[in-house]
Amino acid sequence: MIKGILFDKDGTLLDYDASWLPVNRELARIAAQGDAALADRLLVACGMDPVTGHIVPDSLLAAGNTRQIADGLVAAGSEVSAEELTRRLDDLFSNAAEFSVPVTDLAGFFARLHARGFKLGVASSDNERSIRRTASRFGFADYLDYVAGYDSGFGVKPEAGMVLGFCAATGLDPAEVAVVGDNNHDLHMGRNASAGLTVAVLTGTGSPESLAAASDHCLNDITELEGLLPDLQFA
Ligand SMILES: [Mg+2]
Repeated sequence: MIKGILFDKDGTLLDYDASWLPVNRELARIAAQGDAALADRLLVACGMDPVTGHIVPDSLLAAGNTRQIADGLVAAGSEVSAEELTRRLDDLFSNAAEFSVPVTDLAGFFARLHARGFKLGVASSDNERSIRRTASRFGFADYLDYVAGYDSGFGVKPEAGMVLGFCAATGLDPAEVAVVGDNNHDLHMGRNASAGLTVAVLTGTGSPESLAAASDHCLNDITELEGLLPDLQFA
């Protein structure tokens, strides 16, 4: 029986393309120090087509945390240090929370799940400050039992730690938890923690093909979860 739901943020609660494509371009501009040709090469190296905006599933930009993206930018030719980049990108990502676009009315969505008794959490490769800003901006902070970013001390995806932290915070067993995300690192985190259910959504950078192997269900978006869960409660 599923009693708790742990959501990824980007591409899951937030529409990835609308929220992140402009941020990725700014990220590359910062790492390239204004060199437009280098910025395009950095985007390609990290998984984004600079012309179409297409993101390669499970690439650094799709799935990496700030530190991993900074390391990838340096490896691809950025002359800014990884430490400096990590700091500047964390600031960029926190500010980006103010411009992000949700996939649905998140306050209403979380309120309904909370009213049905589910424990709710967010586990993201973004920093914790960005997650909390997003939750407060879209009005669902009060419904969250747990928040974990890459810098919260629970380890990084696809390790099991963020799921186990959710279980410790809520008193649930991993078998009672559904993990919901748009990338394989979300689903693998769920499987590594022996979560009861892994659910993929298609509002991010994954495709039905890239997400099939590690998901129990593949939904168009999180709103379909509400129809899925009553059956699960009585399964
Ligand atoms: Mg995601």
